[in-house]
Parts: sequence; structure tokens; C-alpha cells
Amino acid sequence: MKIDLAHIEAEPLRIDERLELPPERLDPAVVAGPVEVRVHVEIRSASPGQRMVGRLTMNGVLRCARCLGVVPWSAEEEVAVRLLPRQAAPEEEELELTTDDLEVRFVEDDELSLMDVAVEQTLLAMPMRVLCRESCAGVCPTCGANLNEEGACSCPREIDPRWAALADISGKPS
Ligand SMILES: [Zn+2]
Ligand SMILES: [Zn+2]
Repeated sequence: MKIDLAHIEAEPLRIDERLELPPERLDPAVVAGPVEVRVHVEIRSASPGQRMVGRLTMNGVLRCARCLGVVPWSAEEEVAVRLLPRQAAPEEEELELTTDDLEVRFVEDDELSLMDVAVEQTLLAMPMRVLCRESCAGVCPTCGANLNEEGACSCPREIDPRWAALADISGKPS
């Protein structure tokens, strides 16, 4: 969805949109499906450019880094961004005017892509790595079965000799 910034005058533009971000726009190694983002922001004219303030709420499913199981995820991000036309190539001094903002975003042809904003904020909010649980046992290196499930497979467990030595010390059967 594109927002036309050229016609924002005295009245602020209120946006409340739900977008569905496809995994390929995010990190397909981490995301297990589309992420739904609610963009609830207000854009008002500012000098220079516009100011966008509000929040984004994300809901989706991620993949456990060990077993690839699905882990529900949600997050909320506040945004406070100054929108500036890209054409007006910013000089250093000009940028200093906007230090009260958290971020500056350059827009081309007065057109703001809500999708781009949602993708960027979601990538910022998303953890690099999630586990379905702290003790996730991961997958069998031989057959790929999910070892969190009882009797997942009967592959022989190859134990690294260094860990076997540790297991002996702790008295656990190896
Ligand atoms: Zn897991
Ligand atoms: Zn196996």
C-alpha cells in the first residue's frame, strides 16, 4: 500500500492498516509463515517533510533454531520517523534539524510504501534466533527426526568423545 504524502496538509492522515508480510520479504530462515502487521500511525505535515508517529503490532510464527518447530511470536514497535523527500539530498545541517526524531526516512516522489515500513520494523523487532523451549533437543543429525518427541527415531547416538568424558564425570549413563 502506497501513501501519497503530497496531499497531507493541516489535517493529519490517520492510517490503520493490516498488512500480511510474506516470509520472503523477511528472513525465511527464521520465519515460518506470513507475519501480520497492524500499522497504526499518524502522518502530519512537518517542516521539512512529514512526521510519522504511531505503532506497529506484529503477529506471526517463527522457527525454532534447533528443531525447526513453529514458535508463535508477537511484538509491538513504536515508530517516530521524519519523512524527507529523497530529491532534497540532505546536507549535514539539514539533518541536524531533525535530531528530535528517532529516525529519518527518505521518500521518493512523495510516495511512502507502508509495506517497506512494516518489513523494516518487523526485521528490527524479530529475534535473530528463537527456541521452542530452552531445553529443545533439536533434530537427529542422521535422519532429521524431531528429538523432542518420545522415541523419535532409533538412530545410534554418536557421542563426541569429549562429551562422553563429561557424561562419565557427572555420572550420567552415556
Ligand atoms: Zn525446538
Ligand atoms: Zn534419527
